Amino acid sequence: PPALDIRDLRKQYGELEAIRSVSLAVADGEFVSLLGPSGCGKSTLLMIAAGLSRASGGSVTIGGTAVTGPRRDTGVVFQAPVLLPWRSVLDNVLLPIEFQGLPRATYEPRARDLLRMARIDAFADALPHQLSGGMKQRAAICRALVHEPKLLLMDEPFSALDAITRDEMGVELLRLWQAFRKTVVFVTHSIREAAFLSDRVLVMGRRPATIVEEVAIDLPRP
Ligand code: ADP
Ligand code: ADP
Repeated sequence: PPALDIRDLRKQYGELEAIRSVSLAVADGEFVSLLGPSGCGKSTLLMIAAGLSRASGGSVTIGGTAVTGPRRDTGVVFQAPVLLPWRSVLDNVLLPIEFQGLPRATYEPRARDLLRMARIDAFADALPHQLSGGMKQRAAICRALVHEPKLLLMDEPFSALDAITRDEMGVELLRLWQAFRKTVVFVTHSIREAAFLSDRVLVMGRRPATIVEEVAIDLPRP
């Protein structure tokens, strides 16, 4: 089965029809970008796939099983890094391990590896406020990967960052992804980012979105 399979997804917020009918499938190990006009339902789709919001219709399956709530095999990165201010960077990265009742001793080396790959290992024991915005978001990405999810869902993870940090983050993310070969769904406003990072670019139409179209953007990957 596809890593993520969305069929005829529908979402209604009260009177507002956010998504009318959207279908898409993402294969194992694929990095797919999702573009579309503001308000077309990209975040909504991602939150439903993450099990954090409920569909009004259609089906969403991950690895063949229906999504009914947050899952252990899924990692999520939001637009702004949400780190607990009173916990060290390392302890923030280890949150999913705690939530899932997994042994910290087993996962701490992995958390440190991730921090090293994200080049923020020197800040493992620092508090979040000591990090720049880009570093915080890198920590949030480490946290989304620490429990070894099969599927990584990212909602405009770089949008709060300045252009230079954005480019650096793009490179960081690509490096991380190439190391882990995770399946990624990456919501972005940036065609450039989409072309640079992904295997496939999908575009949602205006609200209420009905179909998702695949577009060909030919840029060489670094
Ligand atoms: P995008 O991520 O593409 O910008 P969103 O998924 O955030 O789009 O929003 C799609 C539409 O649904 C928008 O019109 C937005 O205002 C509306 N919407 C999103 N979340 C809610 C919510 N919790 N309650 C009501 N309307 C919402
Ligand atoms: P984006 O378009 O970048 O996804 P938005 O600013 O549209 O972000 O929405 C930010 C958050 O606010 C979303 O998580 C969404 O659920 C919520 N939201 C958006 N529109 C509405 C709305 N009309 N009513 C309630 N919540 C909303």
